[in-house]
Amino acid sequence: MPRSTAACIDLEALKRNYRTAAERAGSARAMAVVKADGYGHGIAQVASALADVVPRYAVACIEEALAIRAAGLDQPVVLLQGVHARGDLADCECSNFEPVLHNEKQLEWLEQGDHMPRFWLKVNTGMNRLGFWPDDLQAVMARVEKAGAGSRLLGFVSHFACADDASSTMTAAQTAVFETATSAWPGVMKSLGNSAAHFISGQPLFDWSRPGIMLYGGSPVVGKTGPELGLEPVMSLEAPLITTRVVRAGEAVGYGRAWVAERDTRMGMVAIGYADGYPRHAGTGTPAAIDSQRIRLIGRVSMDMLAVDLSNAPDASEGDRVELWGKTVGVDEVAACAGTISYELLTGITSRVPRIYI
Ligand SMILES: *Cc1c(COP(=O)(O)O)cnc(C)c1O
Repeated sequence: MPRSTAACIDLEALKRNYRTAAERAGSARAMAVVKADGYGHGIAQVASALADVVPRYAVACIEEALAIRAAGLDQPVVLLQGVHARGDLADCECSNFEPVLHNEKQLEWLEQGDHMPRFWLKVNTGMNRLGFWPDDLQAVMARVEKAGAGSRLLGFVSHFACADDASSTMTAAQTAVFETATSAWPGVMKSLGNSAAHFISGQPLFDWSRPGIMLYGGSPVVGKTGPELGLEPVMSLEAPLITTRVVRAGEAVGYGRAWVAERDTRMGMVAIGYADGYPRHAGTGTPAAIDSQRIRLIGRVSMDMLAVDLSNAPDASEGDRVELWGKTVGVDEVAACAGTISYELLTGITSRVPRIYI
């Protein structure tokens, strides 16, 4: 019998979070970002659960788009990183994938003209990772027209660098650059906002917003948790207690004696570790829960297990399920304790952990 460690995925909560995104998007439509295996939740199941309500998906790369097709879904799929080889444009054309073209090489492949999928153009408004410079857009558009690809262009895309920080002036600056850069082509659609942009009041989201983390209940906003923003947790990461014992005052638990008992302490070992994707940097004090009762981690996270202090859960016994994150303990809280963000925790759950759908 397998250990009962699992990531339980609430697809109804996912759908409600999408509805929240769609409402917050106002007159914009929301393409569901399901890259990185649906932020670790399983791309086929996530995309299928949203299929009735989502008009468009977005992924990073063509393999992920193919996984959506393999699940039997036929909505358009945006490839946020464009294509990595000229031949991929042919696959895009016949599979209704929409690459976001962002560099000279991709533009040349389009100009070579054997295959013309519908596509988007990325404009660099200040993130400075990908995209054409605003000043070059006129010339890029002239080449698109000359190549006979003008009618295949769906829209302009850009991406915010600091939308998670409401006090940053960067978001307004990028929005203004984007509007100015694209103003000569009013008939072409625009897509700018990630999840965080849905929570900035008055922020224009143009034609298409691109919510990712908020669909999965993680917070896109610094200093706020998902539930504080009206989002529901989707993944509940659970593992069984496999032993309990009383550690005497002065004794330590685990590698490096990183936690030493100040008093006699009843503790337990939980069957999950960093090889499952639980963050090794989550130290003593990181919250977990048993039966909706909050407890805390003690000592170092090992490869296959971690230790918890059961002082708050005196009735806990072997076989009981521990929630590492979920409804009682938010993934944002655990991320903060591990010095990272919910995105990394959710996408980091390894294949050793089965996903169970409810
Ligand atoms: C991942 C990604 C998103 C979604 O971002 P969230 O912060 O998860 O909402 C949107 N746009 C682009 C270009 C992305 O790469």
